[in-house]
Amino acid sequence: MALTGLFGGTFNPIHCGHLKAAEEVLRYFPLDRILFIPSYIPPHKSQKEVVAVEHRLRMVEIACQNQPKFLVSDVEARNPAPSYSIVTLRKLKEIYPEDRFFFIVGSDAFLEIETWKDYTELLKECSFIVVSRPGFGLRSVRGVIEKIRQENLAGIEKFSLLSPDELSVNGVYLLEINSPDISSSEIRKRLQSGLPITGLVPEGVEEYINKYNLYR
Ligand code: ATP
Ligand code: MG
Repeated sequence: MALTGLFGGTFNPIHCGHLKAAEEVLRYFPLDRILFIPSYIPPHKSQKEVVAVEHRLRMVEIACQNQPKFLVSDVEARNPAPSYSIVTLRKLKEIYPEDRFFFIVGSDAFLEIETWKDYTELLKECSFIVVSRPGFGLRSVRGVIEKIRQENLAGIEKFSLLSPDELSVNGVYLLEINSPDISSSEIRKRLQSGLPITGLVPEGVEEYINKYNLYR
């Protein structure tokens, strides 16, 4: 059995805030691996600023290559349909029937959980690790948890390493972290304005963006 984190996102592009969040999760949760899952965005839906999923996948691969526990999954990217977490989770459960899954989401994303397809099922079928994001503290996340609370759904906050035993029930875990105040939108804006993005994304990702002249 493996404990597997699932970190979904548009990753348009992946940046140091994403990586810091995933690293902090590994510091506190004994996960065996974290799968980064770039979402497919249907062409008609995508604002033109979402670059092709092949580019986003490749940049995530580059960003993950130095951390052996960070892996990339193309389960959403290669399926040309809107990406729903519940569908992704069930697919991954078929591929890895022995694993326990933890969706990793930033606090801004979790605040919208009630808009996710079949979110009550999703909350029963896996755990969540909600990491704080600058500007989106965990306070309002607690409010959402209170509102949607149900059996098996515990809001648990821990600041020391949790043991696999402690993680044996599905729950929503809250993790306060200091991630840098970086967003993909800000990076795209900077590139459009010709401003440097050094330090906001890993070096290899910056090189990739320059090589393919993305977001300009
Ligand atoms: P955009 O500005 O295009 O929305 P983004 O920076 O929010 O991009 P996403 O791909 O939308 O990146 O986010 C994927 C996941 O990563 C979400 O759960 C989001 O909350 C989380 N996340 C993004 N940036 C950070 C950050 N700086 N710290 C913590 N979590 C983050
Ligand atoms: Mg976002």
